[in-house]
Amino acid sequence: MRILFPASEVVPFSKTGGLADVSGALPIVLAERGHEVRVVTPLYRTVSREQLRETGRTFTLQFPFGDVVVRTWEASLHERATVVFLDVPQLFDREQLYGDARGDYSDNARRFAVLSMAALTDAQAVGFEPDILHCHDWQTGLAPMALRRGYAGAFPKTKSVLTVHNLAYQGGFQKSELPQLGIPWSDFSPGGVEFWDHLSMLKTGIVFADAVTTVSPTYAKEISSPQDGMGLDGVLRAKPGGVIGIVNGIDENEWSPATDVYLPARFSDADLAGRAVCRSTLLETMRLQPPADGMPLFGVIGRMVEQKGADLLHAALPVFLEHGAAVVVLGSGAAKLEQGWKTLAARYPLRVGVKLGYDTGLAHLIEAGSDFFLMPSRFEPCGLNQMYSQRYGCVPIVHAVGGLVDTVQDVRRGEGTGISFRGATVEAVQGALQRAMELYQSKQTFLEVQRRGMRTDFSWDASAARYEAVYAELAERG
Ligand code: ADP
Repeated sequence: MRILFPASEVVPFSKTGGLADVSGALPIVLAERGHEVRVVTPLYRTVSREQLRETGRTFTLQFPFGDVVVRTWEASLHERATVVFLDVPQLFDREQLYGDARGDYSDNARRFAVLSMAALTDAQAVGFEPDILHCHDWQTGLAPMALRRGYAGAFPKTKSVLTVHNLAYQGGFQKSELPQLGIPWSDFSPGGVEFWDHLSMLKTGIVFADAVTTVSPTYAKEISSPQDGMGLDGVLRAKPGGVIGIVNGIDENEWSPATDVYLPARFSDADLAGRAVCRSTLLETMRLQPPADGMPLFGVIGRMVEQKGADLLHAALPVFLEHGAAVVVLGSGAAKLEQGWKTLAARYPLRVGVKLGYDTGLAHLIEAGSDFFLMPSRFEPCGLNQMYSQRYGCVPIVHAVGGLVDTVQDVRRGEGTGISFRGATVEAVQGALQRAMELYQSKQTFLEVQRRGMRTDFSWDASAARYEAVYAELAERG
């Protein structure tokens, strides 16, 4: 099949979260399975042009807000998976992907309308007629509508899929943007692009796509319910076949402890000795004292947003730190949550190591050197770090929601690979930490849990096969 794959971030070129990992990995696996994939993404300032080749292909998109001239560059992920970069300096040559300290960029509706339309225009320019248009999140939500409306006369047979990576980001904009983007007022209705008197790009994608998927079966159930559907559950339930949950895989080329180039020592489920070296290096790097005898080192990585539950950790951890446990933290985000970690580090300088920022190498070292990984997310569409953790023998402690339910089995069930707790409260987190202590002190059981996690298959193959089945079903619908 031919798959057109517009995405606002793609590893290894740009990344703020899990979406980038998916759009960097899934196209490669699909290509390996014989499909031809064209990923289309903005040329942000952070993308190094040395990795790219200029195509000489330029086109102009005509929007009511003005003409947009797009130069294109390309890179290859695989011989059948090409990434097309949209070079529009006035829109994409900026410090960040979506916004800065002052908030989201005010022209995001236009920036990502350009991504959606350019994906179709570019495919047409090169004669790539897709069987499937696979869109991701609100940033590409206008593309299924454009396809359905025969934008630029393109592709009457193409079917569209929208994957929701996180329902909390809906791409809501003032309705005054509608005429600027060329969307007719007749579409501004509850059955169309309107959501609470605004334009919602995510809703637009959901309404117009032929199928909607999300990144885990449990999250699919959650967002189809009024309680967690953020006002969109009705639209989601109305899709024929509902929302399909397909758990993300992980990129095993990047995340394998036996070959990881970021680690001072490598290890595997057969021989975990290198793990101890990674743990020491991690403690040294973060200038921490080794935890007290029999006490674990906890790791935390991720965007510091309310979703991830860092505030729960700030309240839950001190009693365990008092007993000699330690924690290393990597991430950035909301000032209040960053401050919470800084305060904890000031109080326990030898027990709490915090690095505010983005650091791929340190992320790998934290997975390889911590004993447990903390992920008390209030909600979690899929989550990747809990999978990396299991692969690295770092036992995850997770709130039982979304993808965390689908990828971590509690040790209570005998065959488990992690600790899973219910209820996003400080008491529940402390209960889970207490269980972690006990598990850690029972060395043999802990080792078995580590090994089971390391042997679990989180590869993309099974997930890619499920996407393939969705594509095939749509193509058959004709
Ligand atoms: P989300 O998409 O909600 O941010 P995921 O767990 O699905 O959460 O994916 C987050 C990805 O980003 C993981 O690959 C994680 O390792 C990475 N990541 C997040 N913050 C950082 C950071 N500060 N430094 C390095 N990697 C990070």
